[in-house]
Amino acid sequence: MDEKKSKGQQLMESLSYKKKNFFEISSEKEIKEMYDYSEGYKKFLDEAKTEREAVAYAVRTAEAKGYKPYKLGDKLKIGDKRYYNNRDKSVAFFKIGKNDLTEDGIRIVAAHIDSPRLDLKQNPLYEDSGFCLLKTHYYGGIKKYQWTTIPLALHGVVVLSDGSRVEMRIGENPDEPVFYINDLLPHLGREQVTQPMNKAIGGEDLNIVVGGLPYCDEDVKEKIKLTVLKILSDKYGMKEEDFLSAELAAVPAFPARDVGFDRALIGAYGHDDRVCAYPALTALLDDETEDRTVLAILVDKEEIGSEGNTGMQCSIFEDIINAIAAQFNADPAAVRAASKCLSSDVTSCYDPNFASVYEKRNSAIISCGTAMCKFTGSGGKGGSNDASAEFVGEIRKLFAENNICWQTSELGKVDMGGGGTVAKYIAKLNIDTVDLGVPVISMHAPYELVSKADVYSTYKAFAAFIK
Ligand code: MN
Ligand code: MN
Repeated sequence: MDEKKSKGQQLMESLSYKKKNFFEISSEKEIKEMYDYSEGYKKFLDEAKTEREAVAYAVRTAEAKGYKPYKLGDKLKIGDKRYYNNRDKSVAFFKIGKNDLTEDGIRIVAAHIDSPRLDLKQNPLYEDSGFCLLKTHYYGGIKKYQWTTIPLALHGVVVLSDGSRVEMRIGENPDEPVFYINDLLPHLGREQVTQPMNKAIGGEDLNIVVGGLPYCDEDVKEKIKLTVLKILSDKYGMKEEDFLSAELAAVPAFPARDVGFDRALIGAYGHDDRVCAYPALTALLDDETEDRTVLAILVDKEEIGSEGNTGMQCSIFEDIINAIAAQFNADPAAVRAASKCLSSDVTSCYDPNFASVYEKRNSAIISCGTAMCKFTGSGGKGGSNDASAEFVGEIRKLFAENNICWQTSELGKVDMGGGGTVAKYIAKLNIDTVDLGVPVISMHAPYELVSKADVYSTYKAFAAFIK
């Protein structure tokens, strides 16, 4: 072959860089492993549509692998596998390795488990013109018009007046009812369709239909609302007032499905960021090495700025690192300085349908592997953790040694928009951090698209990083 190539062609091949498609550079065995791995991921997607469900899934899976609950102050020893469940909405798993903590630090992988959705307001229930409806307040960055006329499920918890907690999850099984947001028929939509997309459906238009059956009693004014209240009372023991202390969310009721004749892709609600959380969790649970101390963080509230006591800005993650250090008489600051983190969040995938917003040379291309964002942010890298050439170089070398299919990614064209991740909050603790995650098509839509190759490459990348 090489004899047919000119000297210039050979020189070009050895000096130039081209990203490669996973399917073209992988063995049959690897491709089969990739398809198998995706089956587990799809199950996770269907079971864990909210941060609470993701925590429950992760804890259950980790316990089956020997992980035990951890409280701050607990004694720790080498070989321990523990998890800290923070209010059922974020969770940190760690295992203690043999290596010196001040020299080797802690290997950290972090991903978020909250996704854009429609939260119910605290006084959501009302009746109007034959319908019973629920008012919502959207969570995270959504294109509102996408959430109409799709089947929705309700997930969450209600804290009743006696302080007890009831869980709700309805609309996922085929024999359960779903919920629905109306849109205007095109016949009467002449004016609506001339509106900008962010105006055509407003925040206060996202009202969910939850009933239509009147309670037959002449003396009752809101008969349909009463039917719904009666069902809520019978099924969950709740009264209308209990919505005041409820956290209920409407999420798309679609299950995760293979997409394409070749099943190369997965369509699902909430790939962002469970598509990174699942590889982070499984890489840790599958890791059987004993040298390194590893921490996997699955965190809430990223979609609204990592705020609150379940978000990445909460001190609990620093507290855990410091507590681990203290148990082994290591200086916490020195442990953090020696630690390294892959902050894992999705990135935008180059979309040929919307080519004008991408700078193709620097965009993530579907199926070309897990995508590293040296920086995120907007308007001149604003708000970004801009990883150093040294750390990127270190990770690059590691990936080359472990045959990881990977690429770099920039969200889109300069000044076209932007976004952030939890990376900067981890880097702030004096930890070398870089963003690495799965490229997503139609991010934040009710049904997002990823490549199985990129999910699997992300898993392989984490496995190499923590071992
Ligand atoms: Mn994300
Ligand atoms: Mn997001």
